[in-house]
Amino acid sequence: MKRQTGPNRNQSPAEEPFSYRASPGGRRVLCCGSFPLSELAKKFGTPLYVYSAAALRERSWVLDSAFAGVPHTLCYSVKANPNLSILRLIYGLKCGFDIVSGGELERVLRVSRRAAARVVFSGVGKTAAEMDAALRAGILMFNVESESELALLAERAARLKRRARVALRVNPHVAANTHPYISTGLRRHKFGVPMTEARRLYRWAAAQPFLLPAGVSVHIGSQITEVAPFSAALRRVIALVRELREEGLRLTYVDCGGGLGINYGGQRLPPFPRYAERYAQGLVRALGPTPVHLLLEPGRVLLGPAGALLTRVLYRKTNGPKRFVVTDAAMNDLLRPSLYGAHHRIVPVEGGGRSLETVDVVGPICETGDFFARDRRLPQVKEGELLAIMDAGAYGMSLASNYNSRLRAAEVMVDGARAKLIRRRETMRDLLRQEI
Ligand SMILES: *Cc1c(COP(=O)(O)O)cnc(C)c1O
Repeated sequence: MKRQTGPNRNQSPAEEPFSYRASPGGRRVLCCGSFPLSELAKKFGTPLYVYSAAALRERSWVLDSAFAGVPHTLCYSVKANPNLSILRLIYGLKCGFDIVSGGELERVLRVSRRAAARVVFSGVGKTAAEMDAALRAGILMFNVESESELALLAERAARLKRRARVALRVNPHVAANTHPYISTGLRRHKFGVPMTEARRLYRWAAAQPFLLPAGVSVHIGSQITEVAPFSAALRRVIALVRELREEGLRLTYVDCGGGLGINYGGQRLPPFPRYAERYAQGLVRALGPTPVHLLLEPGRVLLGPAGALLTRVLYRKTNGPKRFVVTDAAMNDLLRPSLYGAHHRIVPVEGGGRSLETVDVVGPICETGDFFARDRRLPQVKEGELLAIMDAGAYGMSLASNYNSRLRAAEVMVDGARAKLIRRRETMRDLLRQEI
């Protein structure tokens, strides 16, 4: 889908990725760049994920600039949104990638074989086959999460005669104020190795012919909007780096993980440039004078606000005192509200003054947990109208499933004067393809 570029057609970077604009009919309509979401829904159907390339570029640039004072690489966390077109765009911005599976490695390699040199591989359960694929591709670094994994990696690397650069992902025992399911930096969590064991494991790794200790990594969780837990974790990591260097290990990289949160509504966060600046300052201060190459693994903070899920109201219904708005999107399309009780702003695509009502916005799936909002004050919407579920660019499509044998949504990327289909809507054929 293409359109003429005129004076107002190109989204200026400082603009919100989604904003209301006056339409020819005089009504205000929610647009992504120059595209009314109603137009995209008509062309591509619903439910539909819509992403703003301009917003993604802008956010990546802002975060990168905030770290301009120190050697660093942004390694985009692929699991936040693994669409190939998104990875391609991000690769073009000189970013690397943080992967957690062989499938994510394959995606990155599809973008470019050369991207491997900027890939870090995280995750508590890497298989031998995944290690082999990553060793053959020549990735930058393995973030190793246990003694057993380290032993297996040493074995696989020796077998393939490829040197594996490793960082141990340490567990700094730092609490992050976030949902328990996405908090990862405490001793009781499955992630990383305890700080106290790290030294012994580094010594062991340094003695292996095909392992090269190259860094230390940490990731304390996701949707963290305060800087303090990040700096606390990094301070502990830096103390370890100093010790290990004194022992003669040449550690180049400190991987600070991802986890920087976004404003889903309700939080009070500064504008993104200032927010990114604060985050960077917090980390750089914790780093102190120790010279390292910082790796950052942002996911949500880059993609979240750059995407929205577009859905159509199928029905309205009233059960006793409760009012429901039933949409054609469901928890299989966007799981976050059901999984984490997450809040997403929901707005009608057609703007304009109307009265508010209290409703539950729910999907068609046979689960009470299938909801996008509960007892939410929303403008009154009619059957057939479009709603936009905001901040759905990260952990939206990547958590989508075929539950209830529903076909997964299509994805569209708006880039200047183009709105490009980047994943077509699934068909019945796709749905049944694997079955025998
Ligand atoms: C999920 C994950 C990230 C990205 O987290 P965000 O909250 O999306 O920034 C980064 N690193 C690791 C190891 C992860 O598991």
